[in-house]
Amino acid sequence: LSQEMTKADSTCPPESMDSEDVLFMLYTSGSTGKPKGIVHTQAGYLLYAALTHKYVFDYQQGDVFGCVADIGWITGHSYVVYGPLCNGATSVLFESTPVYPDPGRYWEVVQRLKINQFYGAPTAIRLLLNYGEEWVKKYDRSSLRVLGSVGEPLNKEAWQWFHEVVGEGRCTLVDTWWQTETGGICIAPRPSEEEAEIVPAMAMRPFFGIVPVLMDENGEVVEGNDVSGALCIAQPWPGMARTIHGDHQRFIDAYFKAYPGYYFTGDGAYRSPKGYYQITGRMDDVINISGHRLGTAEIEDAMADHPEVPETAVVGYPHKIKGEGAFAFIVLKEQTARVDHIKEELKTIVASKIAKYAVPDHILVVKRLPKTRSGKIMRRLLRKVVTEQSSNMGDVTTLDDPSVVKEILDAYQKYKEKNSS
Ligand code: AMP
Repeated sequence: LSQEMTKADSTCPPESMDSEDVLFMLYTSGSTGKPKGIVHTQAGYLLYAALTHKYVFDYQQGDVFGCVADIGWITGHSYVVYGPLCNGATSVLFESTPVYPDPGRYWEVVQRLKINQFYGAPTAIRLLLNYGEEWVKKYDRSSLRVLGSVGEPLNKEAWQWFHEVVGEGRCTLVDTWWQTETGGICIAPRPSEEEAEIVPAMAMRPFFGIVPVLMDENGEVVEGNDVSGALCIAQPWPGMARTIHGDHQRFIDAYFKAYPGYYFTGDGAYRSPKGYYQITGRMDDVINISGHRLGTAEIEDAMADHPEVPETAVVGYPHKIKGEGAFAFIVLKEQTARVDHIKEELKTIVASKIAKYAVPDHILVVKRLPKTRSGKIMRRLLRKVVTEQSSNMGDVTTLDDPSVVKEILDAYQKYKEKNSS
């Protein structure tokens, strides 16, 4: 490294850019197998990252800001690099894992670097709470003022542990909702009036300039409180993505077509009696494994490379630590004794084509998949099977052959018995 450093100039003249020049591109998942290259531009993105960093986390001059997200993801871009640096903050680069060399790693770093704001992922919190409080209490966390979580819902148990054990009940805990496409935090408990209440497991309040609306199935705005709907944003904001690389039409189709005049997030939300927002999850075939957003179609596409597996369908199911896990249903070309071998090969394909976290936890061989008469796989039914809600399958009249439901339920039951024995 020092050799390389000597080759570089010690001054780096800034380059003037147009406010709408491309700043960076990050690939993210949609409901098709083809990831989208989300494009952010210069000025609006930077402004939005800096403002949200300052106001959501109550950043004060001299604070040490610790966002432990991977720098290669949007959270790392906005809250390790652009936001903190634009505000002149000291930003922590965390390269380890929450459990290396031991489950006290985060809190050891907090003590050593005197971190004031700690921003992390629910999946890591859920992992750590299994190791017990000693790992946290071993270290001095008195520098901490604000705790934040991002990427997926922070369930109540994890919220309580984060707040009571890590934050000693005295830190502000912000559950922040946003997306690669939004550039920065859009809904979070802060900023708000001083001392305003924070309700566990809710992102709660829109940031300055964000106008959330909920839509019903007919595309009408849902008014009032204690209501749910598709979460849209009613007016543009500085940090919003500008296009999908190489395919502007796809950008329009994916985000602005479902509810003309509104940006559609892909998420569902509930507005509480007091007007607070709670994210209820994706409304499309996108799942969230340990904070990694993934289209189930991407896993299916990867597995389609296997010559002996003509058909697959992947759905998400609730997982205690990862939030969601992938459950794959596969159809084999022909009966074979190599089933276990094929399953291993499929896992290897997914790990190398996408990533290790995308590898399905469960692979179940079925004779055929549930399809409509027009040939569309009804993943909704498979989700009911793996979440064990088969007593309530809903409308199955559009199925090509309704007897497939019992067939799959039987296979699932057998698989479960085999796994638990
Ligand atoms: P990504 O673009 O990879 O950051 O993923 C964004 C998606 O993660 C959102 O559309 C939500 O489904 C989910 N998400 C992010 N933050 C939260 C949160 N605080 N609560 C619930 N879901 C979240």
